[in-house]
Amino acid sequence: MSLTTRRLYLESFDETYATTFSANVTDVDGLDVVLDQTRFYPTGGGQPCDIGHLEGPTGSLAVSDVGGRDAVRHRLPEDHNLQVGDEVTGTIDWERRHAHMRMHTAQHLLSGLAYDLFNGARTVGNQIGAERSRLDLRPVSMTEDEVMALRAAFDAAVSKDLPLSMDVQDRQTLIDEVGAERSNVDMIPASVQQMRIIRIGDQVDVCPCAGTHVRSLGEIGPLGEVHVKSKGKGTKRFAYTLDGRPI
Ligand SMILES: [Zn+2]
Repeated sequence: MSLTTRRLYLESFDETYATTFSANVTDVDGLDVVLDQTRFYPTGGGQPCDIGHLEGPTGSLAVSDVGGRDAVRHRLPEDHNLQVGDEVTGTIDWERRHAHMRMHTAQHLLSGLAYDLFNGARTVGNQIGAERSRLDLRPVSMTEDEVMALRAAFDAAVSKDLPLSMDVQDRQTLIDEVGAERSNVDMIPASVQQMRIIRIGDQVDVCPCAGTHVRSLGEIGPLGEVHVKSKGKGTKRFAYTLDGRPI
């Protein structure tokens, strides 16, 4: 049986910022339950999942892990006793989610700025964390001056509080507007024609993404500590914190 979970956080910024929802259980597989809709972000795209709890006919159940794409699986304790058809109310851990939203949006901003500042440098990997995140850039040298330039551009964009927007576009429209490399659309299988596009400002960064983002850059604040290390062959790993945290 093919089950698809409606992922509410994809639909608008209002939905991204909401923390509770009602849903029905559509499948149970041991500790994992699938819901017809969810606000829990499943681990993917370099971003860890949301955690939280589900309140249902068998009590309050901690959600410790979330995965899957079409059918989103919520990991519950043993003896959760939920059954297909049960109604539940879900609540996500907002502090963790918001930290991921800020860090993930910071990654978009860094990627867009690095492309412009460093002659078309590509983002070839990323890992988001609540306290520390990183992205891999190629080809870059990332001298001290370049790191300072990237930081200055980041903080300038944040201080302008540039808004983010999301909409669905077709592949060719995106390529015509910003190019296949700058948008990273060349990393997405050619069979995917319609994509959810996340845009910072006018064109600071424009790329397809199914993650969670803040409404405007002011919510991120200035870049904290950064650390650069070589990953070989012109690739540099750029790690960063927010809120002045040590790295
Ligand atoms: Zn994103």
